[in-house]
Amino acid sequence: MSAPIVRRLALIGIGLIGSSLARAARKGGLAEKIVISTRSEETLRRAEELGLGDRYCLDAGEAVEDADLVIVSVPVGASGAVAKWIAPSLKPGAILTDAGSTKRSVIEQMAPHIPEGVHFIPGHPIAGTEQSGPDAGFAELFRNRWCILTPPEGTDPAAMAKLTAFWEACGSTVDTMDAEHHDLVLAIVSHLPHIIAYNIVGTADDLEAVTKSEVIKYSASGFRDFTRLAASDPTMWRDVCLYNKDAILEMLARFSEDLAALQRAIRWSDGEKLFDIFTRTREIRRSIVEAGQDTAVPNFGRDMAKADAGE
Ligand code: NAP
Repeated sequence: MSAPIVRRLALIGIGLIGSSLARAARKGGLAEKIVISTRSEETLRRAEELGLGDRYCLDAGEAVEDADLVIVSVPVGASGAVAKWIAPSLKPGAILTDAGSTKRSVIEQMAPHIPEGVHFIPGHPIAGTEQSGPDAGFAELFRNRWCILTPPEGTDPAAMAKLTAFWEACGSTVDTMDAEHHDLVLAIVSHLPHIIAYNIVGTADDLEAVTKSEVIKYSASGFRDFTRLAASDPTMWRDVCLYNKDAILEMLARFSEDLAALQRAIRWSDGEKLFDIFTRTREIRRSIVEAGQDTAVPNFGRDMAKADAGE
């Protein structure tokens, strides 16, 4: 355990991301005191039962009083309302950041409320699962994952260094970029794959000639891997689509063009073209494994012996 990086940490939102931050901060001794706030009494009570913090408040304004670091982890569409609520209680010199999956719209929503003297540094941990709520979090979620920060021009270097140190202590490597670029990159690596997954699982669910029980029975042939993404939180993904609309539409247009080319190659039995496309994409998988972003073990490391035993 290292010396605390901040004296008082306030976590607004205590779902998968907020509770993982609480656990990582607690485990690493990153804050002297952790104050937790969430919208509903039920979630707050659960956070308390899990012992995620030292203080629990329904009032987000009260939670950020005297905090050195405030991390907002709520669906991106709620960022503006949260910023408005906490702004009058933020102390001068505090660092305010977030974990939202889109950045430009979060900045547009939050920045107008932030008082002078508070360091607002938006962020996005590239780490997650398809689960949500305070029970879903775990301290290791951010380990060996990237965290992207999108500091506005003129951000105080000391505040930036402190926030970077915090994420590094959670196990992440920090990268910086501007918010527009973040939204474009994430549209292709995260938002589009989720939209495609939601769509394909929906299509299978609508099929009449193939029964639902067959879809489930034979899912290990590929379909199953889409269902993990398609099980992600509907509120979060609704907001991602609404608040990163431009970048997503741009990537969807490109995707549709490429899909049409693939469709044409299948229609004309252009085996050479299909082989070329499928060879190129195999290389990407190899690069992801080499970069330590996934396991090389077949079938994503699923333990088939255990699965067969129903464990
Ligand atoms: P989550 O598990 O669903 O938790 C959401 C939290 O936000 C809960 O504390 C919830 O409070 C609160 N909340 C929900 N709606 C709200 C509203 N309208 N106003 C105020 N608070 C509200 O979500 P999460 O997965 O931790 O995601 C949090 C943020 O991190 C999102 O912006 C998401 O885009 C981003 N993110 C998610 C992932 C991922 O894989 N899940 C990865 C990276 C970044 P109650 O339960 O009390 O209602």
